[in-house]
Amino acid sequence: MSLKPILPGSTSATGQQMTLGVMGGGQLGRMFVQAAQAMGYFTAVLDPDPASPAGLISHFHIQTPFDDEQGLAQLMQRCEAITTEFENVPAPALVTLGAHRPVAPSAVCVAVAQDRVLEKARFVKCAPVSGVSPAPHAVVDSVDSLAAVPDDLLPGILKTARLGYDGKGQVRVSTREALAQAWADLGRVTCVIEKLLPLQAECSVIVARGANGQRVSFPVQANTHRDGILALTEVYEGAVPPALAERAVASTLAIADELNYVGVLCVEYFIVQNAAGEPDLIVNEMAPRPHNSGHYTQNACDLSQFEAQVRTLAGLPLPTPRQHSPAIMINLLGDLWFEPNGVRSQQSERPVSPPWDQVLALPGTHLHQYGKLSPRPGRKMGHLNITAPNVEQVRATARQVLALLGLPAL
Ligand code: ADP
Ligand code: MG
Repeated sequence: MSLKPILPGSTSATGQQMTLGVMGGGQLGRMFVQAAQAMGYFTAVLDPDPASPAGLISHFHIQTPFDDEQGLAQLMQRCEAITTEFENVPAPALVTLGAHRPVAPSAVCVAVAQDRVLEKARFVKCAPVSGVSPAPHAVVDSVDSLAAVPDDLLPGILKTARLGYDGKGQVRVSTREALAQAWADLGRVTCVIEKLLPLQAECSVIVARGANGQRVSFPVQANTHRDGILALTEVYEGAVPPALAERAVASTLAIADELNYVGVLCVEYFIVQNAAGEPDLIVNEMAPRPHNSGHYTQNACDLSQFEAQVRTLAGLPLPTPRQHSPAIMINLLGDLWFEPNGVRSQQSERPVSPPWDQVLALPGTHLHQYGKLSPRPGRKMGHLNITAPNVEQVRATARQVLALLGLPAL
């Protein structure tokens, strides 16, 4: 990547407004677009969906499939540099773009993150430097490899190597018969079987790394999942034991360095108990982009993960982010539109907006909605960041919000 910065608000040699591009038009692309536009860039989104959250608000929206040559050519013609907002962008498309424009993260890094087999292998390779290993696991991609799965990986979770997210493409299995059945049910695609670990907690780390190798980290977030989907993120002193948080940050920076990563990277960790009965870290997976668990940075830090993505892409400086407020992020799934105040309405009824007026009456509540037109159960519609001057207050406000929304208490 070129180290010459792309200055916002200026024009290129051909007289075009400086434009940053993003592959994918989901909510992460939308928040990238918002951050880029706030700084004075024009934006271009490539996504086939005419109603994609990012496409709806971008200066340019190229509505072609991700591997469409003409679409990619248009994106390159419009943009000075291009990023991605989801890991399942076809890697060859990023190779094509990368041959003509700065692309961050690179096709190689995205290819690693989109395949659990490659990803786990990288984590194993990094372990001597990062100090953190992945869960015990084995690759299942043939009848022979299925038969060779060691007994001590059971009970375990069989995960498809590609295209899994929010707990999809995963089956929990306790016996060899169940494992064989699960692999058949998943279509005998390449999978990873991972030992089921007793998790004490989960956390994740966002880092940003520039083309010049400069890197910064954000404070570690503690994550609560429900039904395989992130429900809640808490970021304040004590949310993650400090010694573990320090190790998680060091590990994430080491992984970013090893990949020669440029952009924003999120790595997820499990907190488990080691043989000595002490809390320990296991590295789970990474996302080559901003992450749902990093949304708190929008309102609790002086640099958001999306602005960091813009800066790494544009070759701008990366000052160390500072968290100025304790934060709790609550994910807003489509279910809330059918169960306002926790009371389920009839499926046939029109969706009802949650009581935002009451939620927003509480100090330190910041509502982010993604502009999705039809709420559906399980669909990520938005998130709510809560900030407060201290931990007690942020937790107290979160409890009030959760009660108003009919969500499980803290
Ligand atoms: P996804 O791509 O769906 O996020 P993950 O591998 O992160 O896939 O798994 C989703 C969730 O399932 C994790 O956040 C964790 O709660 C649980 N999980 C995954 N792997 C394990 C494991 N080996 N042991 C225990 N729980 C796990
Ligand atoms: Mg995950």
